[in-house]
Amino acid sequence: MAITVIRDKCIGCKLCVKACPFEAIDMDGKIAVINEKCTSCKVCLSKCPVEAIEQDEKGEAEIADLSAYRHVWVFAEQRRGKIMNVALELIGEGRRLAREIGDDTKVYAVLIGDKVRDLSGECFEYGADGAYVIEHGLLGNYTTDGYTKVFTDTIDVYKPEIVLFGATHIGRDLAPRVAARLNTGLTADCTRLDVKVSSYIDYAQKNTTLDTSDLDPASDDKGLKQTRPAFGGNLMATIVCPRTRPQMATVRPGVMARREREPGVTGEIVTVNPVLDAGDIRIEVLDVVKSAKEIVSLTDAEIICSGGRGLGDASGFELIGKFADKVGGVVGSSRAAVDSGWIDQSHQVGQTGTTVKPKIYFACGISGAIQHLAGMQTSDIIVAINKDADAPIFEVADYGIVGDLYKVIPQIIEEWDKAEDLYEETLDRSAE
Ligand SMILES: Cc1cc2nc3c(=O)[nH]c(=O)nc-3n(C[C@H](O)[C@H](O)[C@H](O)COP(=O)(O)OP(=O)(O)OC[C@H]3O[C@@H](n4cnc5c(N)ncnc54)[C@H](O)[C@@H]3O)c2cc1C
Repeated sequence: MAITVIRDKCIGCKLCVKACPFEAIDMDGKIAVINEKCTSCKVCLSKCPVEAIEQDEKGEAEIADLSAYRHVWVFAEQRRGKIMNVALELIGEGRRLAREIGDDTKVYAVLIGDKVRDLSGECFEYGADGAYVIEHGLLGNYTTDGYTKVFTDTIDVYKPEIVLFGATHIGRDLAPRVAARLNTGLTADCTRLDVKVSSYIDYAQKNTTLDTSDLDPASDDKGLKQTRPAFGGNLMATIVCPRTRPQMATVRPGVMARREREPGVTGEIVTVNPVLDAGDIRIEVLDVVKSAKEIVSLTDAEIICSGGRGLGDASGFELIGKFADKVGGVVGSSRAAVDSGWIDQSHQVGQTGTTVKPKIYFACGISGAIQHLAGMQTSDIIVAINKDADAPIFEVADYGIVGDLYKVIPQIIEEWDKAEDLYEETLDRSAE
């Protein structure tokens, strides 16, 4: 327990009991006592008028033996029995990190839910050496309390060195809770992870302006280097977690490449029997309603047609929608279009929107600000349509069309129609 009461100082005022959001403080006569519900949130520390509550040094000492922590874990987030793509991407990344750590380090998927064991096969085929399967009837629907408890308990027992989460709504909710319970660090929205100093230096020198002059490429430091954009994307920061374990990070969908699937590969299953009862979960899920926003699946889209401020007004998205329908894509947008109220935020691509990696990304009337590029520049092919030949988007575009999007897009649609007609004619002829 990281929080303790100094009995000699406690005056029994109960202010801490009232302030605690987790009902983690009881009274033993006139002395406050911290119970097992404590999350180390430290709210009580500031409420105590006589400084009778402190953070216990013993808590730090308990997790100070870093060598006890081994292997890389990936939260294999599943929804209604389908593993999220980002989890599969992270399994591949976890494997790379495990190789860099060496010492027979393995990558494990962590499956949480009700009847999720069968999903372990998919995790193995995408690169996991093993899977921790945490099943319980109360874990059928995601709840912050339920998942946090079983995940934290499992980490306490098995002690992974690294734990990775997809930066999905669930991952962003769960990872900080787990990190806080474990009194360890978490780096959100990483765009790059490294273990070996030499591979970090390689990356930093090629892609960013990070200063690596005082780093020794031969160093045997195996700490996780977690790189993410900072200050609105204007610089990259690399964060380490040297004193506590596990090292924890979230990574947005689409940032890491998924490994090629290897059908038939199997792995080790570790069955975890979680200790969980209804009293551990403070909310009850009555119904799960899929909102219209979820239908916009930018992360899975193979073609994205995005519109920006260059559309001029909201009606421009009718043309973008028509374009997307024609080419079999989904509609994306820049933040400027969202901020103007022309389209819902769920369509936004970029640093504060969704990170995407489609086969083709059409950027229409988008200038190419660094925050937009952060979310789409790893697309396989980028086509930019912009009337300003000097727009920065052309620097990352594979194909650039300088012109008014209201003239260019209808022409593309027209050409697409002609190509479709020609294709059908060819099919008809070959069938005759
Ligand atoms: C912390 C932070 C986070 C951010 N996160 C994001 C993010 O996630 N995503 C994001 O997109 N932005 C983000 N931004 C905003 C970003 O900095 C830019 O302001 C935004 O991307 C600009 O959007 P835009 O390219 O649509 O608009 P503009 O920069 O105004 O560009 C419009 C472009 O349209 C062209 N154009 C105009 N008319 C036509 C026409 N008829 N035909 C063809 N081209 C035309 C113009 O030449 C111009 O290049 C963020 C900013 C900050 C500070």
